[in-house]
Amino acid sequence: MTAYEPVDSPDETTVFPYHDLTPPTLADVFSAQRVIDRHLPKTPLVRSEFLSGELDADVYLKRDDTLPTGAFKVRGGLNLCSQLDPEFSDRGLIAASTGNHGQSIAYAGRTFGIPVVIAVPGEPNEDKVEAIERFGAEVHRVGRDYDDAREWAEKQASEHGYRYVHSANEPLLIAGVATAGLEVLDELPDVDTVFCPIGGGSSASGYCLTVGEVADADVVGVQSSNADAMYRAWKEGHLDPQPTADTLAEGLQSRVPFALTSEILGEKLTEMMTVSDEAIRKAVRTIVEREHILLEGAGAASVAGALDRADELAGKTVVLQLSGRNLSNEKLRWALDTEADADTDADADTDTDTDANARKLDDE
Ligand SMILES: *Cc1c(COP(=O)(O)O)cnc(C)c1O
Repeated sequence: MTAYEPVDSPDETTVFPYHDLTPPTLADVFSAQRVIDRHLPKTPLVRSEFLSGELDADVYLKRDDTLPTGAFKVRGGLNLCSQLDPEFSDRGLIAASTGNHGQSIAYAGRTFGIPVVIAVPGEPNEDKVEAIERFGAEVHRVGRDYDDAREWAEKQASEHGYRYVHSANEPLLIAGVATAGLEVLDELPDVDTVFCPIGGGSSASGYCLTVGEVADADVVGVQSSNADAMYRAWKEGHLDPQPTADTLAEGLQSRVPFALTSEILGEKLTEMMTVSDEAIRKAVRTIVEREHILLEGAGAASVAGALDRADELAGKTVVLQLSGRNLSNEKLRWALDTEADADTDADADTDTDTDANARKLDDE
């Protein structure tokens, strides 16, 4: 058995010799599309009457929340597994995740018959963990946050020879998730602006390589101000980690910016912005109440970003990437809690809140 040793990494994460840090090309995205078309439905692109009115623009929602794992990342997982070096087929894959990257790799591993180990942080979104296990992967709970889980997974990979699936430094993942952008172009070749949430930056990189390159559309990346490592890296031109990444949108959690996605975004992203967790919470609620679509915090960051830029979007054709729907029940209650609007204190009396929300839902 070959166990790979880590090689020099341009960022704070561990990379192995099989991590080619060359950005994917549009041709790679077209190859990925042939794989994705065999395994996944195309996701709907639906005009939002409500947001079109609010923003005085032509606003479309890219419904990647409708994918079988409830998030866009499975596009990348399937593309990577479809081209996995056979030496890893038995030894399997390992990844660290707050949930959706783990679901993607677990789902793709099941599809291609490859064993999968996923490291999640100590207090994960239990719905996501349950889904990962349902797809047949082995789950390990490690450390406090995503980066603790990541370091553990990196160590396991070098000790046991698993293929470490990085959440961003993987051209095949980026090319896979970029297929969402090709689908947008097919239906809406005149798109002006795409708003896309950014955690590790794979999804936004994908939109830059597709709608950015082909339609010359603006791609605007949205991070949580509580987890802004990629934002700072982009603005300040470095790859320095931040001390914390405590956003309630766990899909956007990383203290560390990543080299490959930072390179692509540095070259091609039009703009990067941050929104508060409170703005994200309100966006989740707005989309539930007005569109009757359930998004997780990370999935609603694009909506929060567009609402923040309302004055710049009038008359434009705008696409909002709805990246995922895996909101825990607990966070759903929090998102719908009108009392939290006045008092965002997390210690509010949960029993009363639940009753109020139950009544509210009954009234609809
Ligand atoms: C991972 C994730 C993101 C962030 O995507 P990156 O490619 O890491 O920037 C956004 N939304 C959801 C639902 C996610 O799971």
